[in-house]
Amino acid sequence: MQLYTKSKNTFFGDKNERFGGQYVPEILYPALKELENAYKNIFHTKEFQAELKELMTHFVNRPTPLIYAKNASEILQNDIYLKFEGLANTGAHKINNAIGQVLLAKKMGKTRIIAETGAGQHGLATACACAKLGLECEIFMGSVDIARQRPNVLNMELFGAKVRSIDSGTKTLKDAVNEALREWSKDSINTFYVLGSALGPYPYPDIVRDLQSIISKEVLSQIKHYFTGMPDYMIACVGGGSNAIGFFHAFLQKDVKLIGVEAGGKGNNSGEHAMRMQNSKDAQTGIAQGYKTIFLQNQEGQLAKTHSISAGLDYAGIGPQLAHLGKIGRIQFQSATDDEVLEALKFFAKTEGIIAALESSHALAGAIKLCQTQKNKKIIINISGRGDKDIFITAKYLKTNIWEDFLGEEIKRIQELKAIK
Ligand SMILES: *Cc1c(COP(=O)(O)O)cnc(C)c1O
Repeated sequence: MQLYTKSKNTFFGDKNERFGGQYVPEILYPALKELENAYKNIFHTKEFQAELKELMTHFVNRPTPLIYAKNASEILQNDIYLKFEGLANTGAHKINNAIGQVLLAKKMGKTRIIAETGAGQHGLATACACAKLGLECEIFMGSVDIARQRPNVLNMELFGAKVRSIDSGTKTLKDAVNEALREWSKDSINTFYVLGSALGPYPYPDIVRDLQSIISKEVLSQIKHYFTGMPDYMIACVGGGSNAIGFFHAFLQKDVKLIGVEAGGKGNNSGEHAMRMQNSKDAQTGIAQGYKTIFLQNQEGQLAKTHSISAGLDYAGIGPQLAHLGKIGRIQFQSATDDEVLEALKFFAKTEGIIAALESSHALAGAIKLCQTQKNKKIIINISGRGDKDIFITAKYLKTNIWEDFLGEEIKRIQELKAIK
């Protein structure tokens, strides 16, 4: 079967099994067409790419390093390399996409940016990019997520963004997406919708992949410092799939095994995980939020509840290109449970001095598992982000009582501060 490195007529895959498309209400169609034109006529120009490169180098902090994990390699008896996206501004790969889309919006003459966010990482990156490039920014976020992710909300506001609380549906990410799409259809003349992962209607999956593919291009040149030829394995975590497709892109047609790790959560029952690519019983091809892909669905075809210890992997859909690459066998999918993820996080922190994001720790857990059956292989793992943002989750799980005491003390300090005022 043919391997699609980019979409053709908006889809990935041939007629028998294809993913992607533009399944949007008619009212949104002109906005998508305008974006499509900008992707063709602005995005690919030398001028645009030169300006983007300047921002990537002097604002995002690229290239991010490829680190040989010597201690972990000795213990796991394989050569492990870590691509550390956590050193990009705002602490994850998401800024690669956000800065590119906001720059495109500016070139299109848009004055206002909207974006959806679940955990807040994409909202944070978008707000950061808007601060840098001087555009008005409004982030759509479910009210439940706002309550859970207050630190990210505070930082978005610090960047000057307005955070709009969404109270419809389950008050989480999918409702924020729906509201943002509605808002975009109302005012696409002035407004640009910055989508956060390699999904949604065409051309978003292609734009996001192109922007994130800088990760694999860097890896391709950085490996030369360590060895000749290709690595044996490359491993990335998969939420919507933007860090994975960016990390894999330049290697899709090379002789390297590619592994995507999904959120195994707490188990195989509905609502306990986010495994879309491993034949779990509620994973079905379907159409939602403007595109066709494999979604976790309930019996009525509504998007199912998902769970992951990492908010970034806690999503019912997967990018259409990854669904395609999984179906044709180019990417092999696995999962890691919440417990395995915490163990992997601790192992790499202790041996390598790196605190990975909980999302990225899924890829680390996948690598540890791989090393149980493989020896002396070259394995590159994408650390999509750093784990500082997860302190409220990891501390709660790893140091329950100490963390509870700390928060109690912190509340007392706040009350004292208020009393003085
Ligand atoms: C958002 C996020 C992810 C998941 O998103 P993808 O589009 O699948 O990459 C992974 N890692 C980190 C650190 C994130 O913030």
